[in-house]
Amino acid sequence: QKDYLVIGLGRFGRAVCESLVKRGQSVLGVDIDPKLVQEASNWLTQAVILDSTDREALEEIEAQQFSTAIVAIGANFEASILTTIVLKDLGIPRVISKALTTLHERVLLKVGADEVIFPERQAGYALGEKLSS
Ligand code: ATP
Repeated sequence: QKDYLVIGLGRFGRAVCESLVKRGQSVLGVDIDPKLVQEASNWLTQAVILDSTDREALEEIEAQQFSTAIVAIGANFEASILTTIVLKDLGIPRVISKALTTLHERVLLKVGADEVIFPERQAGYALGEKLSS
């Protein structure tokens, strides 16, 4: 099985990719925006332009071979839900999706996300912990 599939190369997705690449992991990054993919291809293992709500497009890149996928789409909630569903349908064992609100978090878990990341809340908690320790 291949390593990590990161969907969405915005600030969050890129940070996940950078951190994985730095640790020697191989990462396939995808985004619907050709400019972001072009930029990422300079330092990412592999980067592909595609719409992740399109099941056939994901099958073409053999998304089903990955053991972990990160759905780093935020503002477009519909795309984030659809992408999460398609990735689980393809049989990826571990799908981690990003949420912007607690309601998003609940929906993403209901449609099959294995884990949900809520960056603003987690960063806020971490800061509180750091300040009081
Ligand atoms: P960040 O805070 O990480 O910069 P954001 O919360 O503003 O991101 P979005 O802009 O919604 O989140 O999405 C992040 C990335 O996901 C964008 O680069 C966007 O092009 C990409 N994206 C959105 N929808 C799709 C899709 N259907 N297929 C592939 N990529 C997508």
